[in-house]
Amino acid sequence: MDFRPDTGLDAFRQQVRAFLRENLPAELAGSQHGVRSPRADLVRWQRILNQHGWGAPYWTADHGGTGWTAQQRLVFDEECAAAGAPTQDVFGQRLLGPVLNHFGTAAQKAEHLPPIFNGDRLWCQGFSEPGSGSDLASLRMQAVREGDHYVVNGQKIWTSYAHQADWIFMLVRTDASVKKQAGISFLLADMKTPGITVRPILTIDGCHHLNETFFDNVRVRVVNCVGGEGAGWAVTKFLLNNEHAATADLPTLVRFRRQLRKLATTLVVDGKPLIERPEFAQRLARLEAELQAIGMLVQRVAAMEEDHSPGAHVLGSMLKIRGTELQQRMSEFLVESLGHYGAYAYAEADAHGGSGATYDALPMPAPGLGPGIASEMFFRRASTIYGGTSEVQRGIIAKLMFQL
Ligand SMILES: Cc1cc2nc3c(=O)[nH]c(=O)nc-3n(C[C@H](O)[C@H](O)[C@H](O)COP(=O)(O)OP(=O)(O)OC[C@H]3O[C@@H](n4cnc5c(N)ncnc54)[C@H](O)[C@@H]3O)c2cc1C
Repeated sequence: MDFRPDTGLDAFRQQVRAFLRENLPAELAGSQHGVRSPRADLVRWQRILNQHGWGAPYWTADHGGTGWTAQQRLVFDEECAAAGAPTQDVFGQRLLGPVLNHFGTAAQKAEHLPPIFNGDRLWCQGFSEPGSGSDLASLRMQAVREGDHYVVNGQKIWTSYAHQADWIFMLVRTDASVKKQAGISFLLADMKTPGITVRPILTIDGCHHLNETFFDNVRVRVVNCVGGEGAGWAVTKFLLNNEHAATADLPTLVRFRRQLRKLATTLVVDGKPLIERPEFAQRLARLEAELQAIGMLVQRVAAMEEDHSPGAHVLGSMLKIRGTELQQRMSEFLVESLGHYGAYAYAEADAHGGSGATYDALPMPAPGLGPGIASEMFFRRASTIYGGTSEVQRGIIAKLMFQL
């Protein structure tokens, strides 16, 4: 991997920055804090991207995407995060979209891809069940074929944003008599289908991201099975193996850096801005150096993905561990840097299901600086769990590196 400046990539970065300057509405710019933007902001931004032909930054050009390289996608994500642009629907854009492009029938693509481009249909992911998380292949939710429908019964858990989603992609057991991986199918269902019940799980950050999702005799059309009956495990492996470079969640780290830098110059302690306190400056510099190292590894993995190198898999697991650990340390540093302001539970906005309460008694040093910081620090405790726990990632690294 050559880390010397790439002039082509620099030109692309300038293009993205110019686009953001011209198209990111002022009221959305910098408004993004927390894990996911409120639905209205997310949809509005997605439509702006789509009008510009950037509705699907992660898809190849033959599927209507931008056709950007993995490195260009990273630049796009990084610049959007640095400008504070709203998030995109990760489930539709990054997980389901590539799956449909690869495995979907012409009818499935025609029905489901256009609403993803335009933010008209948001998705959630129904994989985990009580007792089936890391060991996903043990899942039990049952789908029984009746004519041109499946009848689905069972429960999913930790279904992020199911309460805001229009559709769900999910794994079901269609055959219990074969090897467990072989009996799984990948189905798409409209969340308004009778028999689907979503119950909130409120998390330690005080917000509503997660849900339990129950299926009681839910009828799903057979045409909504992706890849064919029994192919669910192959589809899932493709979905989980996609985008190793993204596992570090660089945009979140970039956003934390932006927040820390803002705090460094706006929060005055004993007459001096924080950045003039050596212990703060040193800790910030150390975290920024780690972020830079992760950024370089991310670029390396992106380059390997473009070459279809098998090593991307193991480096992706390393990135997941280091990136999520850094997320936790940066979000803790943010709260600590708030000093006595940090003692307040700065509530996340209502749109995230938080209380929306504000604490007028202690005005923040800069508008918009405090809300969401404490709740995000709590939420980030989960980042070493979702998307494959750190322990499971370490198992993957050991297996692949040492050929166990
Ligand atoms: C915030 C959040 C959002 C999520 N969003 C979604 C979502 O949208 N859709 C969805 O389907 N799921 C979602 N999940 C679920 C997530 O994928 C699972 O929590 C994760 O896969 C772990 O599974 P589990 O919780 O069942 O824990 P378990 O698999 O039961 O693990 C319990 C403990 O055992 C360890 N362990 C398990 N297996 C091994 C092993 N082989 N080697 C070493 N240690 C092991 C784990 O590391 C962990 O410490 C989300 C989870 C969180 C926390």
